[in-house]
Amino acid sequence: MTPSSTVYSSVFATTTMDIYEFGALVRDGNEALVKYLQDAGLLKKELWCTDCSRQYTMVKCTGTVVGYTLRCPGCRKKRQLQTGTFLEGMHLPIAKFFGLMYFWAHETSVKHAVEFTTVSPVFLMN
Ligand SMILES: [Zn+2]
Repeated sequence: MTPSSTVYSSVFATTTMDIYEFGALVRDGNEALVKYLQDAGLLKKELWCTDCSRQYTMVKCTGTVVGYTLRCPGCRKKRQLQTGTFLEGMHLPIAKFFGLMYFWAHETSVKHAVEFTTVSPVFLMN
């Protein structure tokens, strides 16, 4: 993945975040984290269905890296929140991605970032 300017601006936002704010975003499921990443432009916030011209709504969806998906209330078509963003195609759970971004922004070594987030180094090489 190649970082975009949106990712860089989000990373700068995480450098002013302390570990307590970080913890508040990643505990109790992904809802607060998803909202944070939507506000940062890293996940889709609004999407209109091209078939029925209705706005997609966000619904819980287990089995996805984000834990939510966008669903059209008319035709029930689903779209991932990562669609068309830097995170499209990502296979890493969103909280782990955010943890890596947080530690990277704080210039933590890869060794320690991997230990703190329990992410396999294989993810970091792809
Ligand atoms: Zn629709």
